[in-house]
Amino acid sequence: MRIFDPHIHMTSRTTDDYERMAAAGVRALVEPAFWLGQPRTSVGSFADYFDSLVGWEPFRASQFGIRHFATIALNPKEANDPRCREVLELLPRYLDKDNVVAVGEIGYDSTTPEEDEVFAAQLALAIAYDLPALVHTPHRDKARGTARSIAVVTESGIEPGRVVIDHLNEVTVEQVRDSGCWAGFSIYPDTKMSPPRMVEILRKYGTERMLVNSAADWGRSDPLLTRTTGEAMLEAGFSDDDVDRVLWRNPIEFYGQSGRLDLAELEGAAAGPEPTFEGNSILRGGS
Ligand SMILES: [Zn+2]
Repeated sequence: MRIFDPHIHMTSRTTDDYERMAAAGVRALVEPAFWLGQPRTSVGSFADYFDSLVGWEPFRASQFGIRHFATIALNPKEANDPRCREVLELLPRYLDKDNVVAVGEIGYDSTTPEEDEVFAAQLALAIAYDLPALVHTPHRDKARGTARSIAVVTESGIEPGRVVIDHLNEVTVEQVRDSGCWAGFSIYPDTKMSPPRMVEILRKYGTERMLVNSAADWGRSDPLLTRTTGEAMLEAGFSDDDVDRVLWRNPIEFYGQSGRLDLAELEGAAAGPEPTFEGNSILRGGS
């Protein structure tokens, strides 16, 4: 099984996770810029974080034969902090980078006027830089937050097929399908979406324009839940080709719209031998 995790926060994960992911078939991933938990108080903290997303993490992933791409944005939560607003001016520098494949995560956290403004400004950046957009939906009052996100996407003029609305569930999937946007699902170890529930959604709505991710981060999460979902699909009677479409070809089709995925290189990564973990001295030396 070859897997492209379209949403995972490796900054928060250990090197053991990279090793387990590689062994499970993860050959590529997208790491969206997000809220790190500890509030950032200056723009410099964002610059250092963005640098690590386009520099250090791709290097760390490459030790395990995994291709690492990033999405860059001011996240919805910190859009509310006036000290972080200047981050918007920092974004163009990063949106020009080769391995930045979308603007994200953008969208709503508490649905404030500040979030409205920053969301719209960043959709405009996605259009200006000809990049797809990754939209996070709020964990509270998800149905309303999703409807409002779709309205803002429509108003921005960005082509809906270049937008993924993420963290969906049974309640929000239908409105996103109707909008023409891609539907993203984060699979969690407990609460929210689980592999069996994901399989039911795929049965009902099909595999087109569907993205399944682990969204693993600093909270309770599991970077192998993409693999578990693929196995649950097979058990439920989906074909190997269906699994390959959802877990590999769909992320490539969506993020490939950036023009920045090297397909030949990705196919090579997927076809290559299982990575070995010898000679990994640099990562062992880290502290
Ligand atoms: Zn995320």
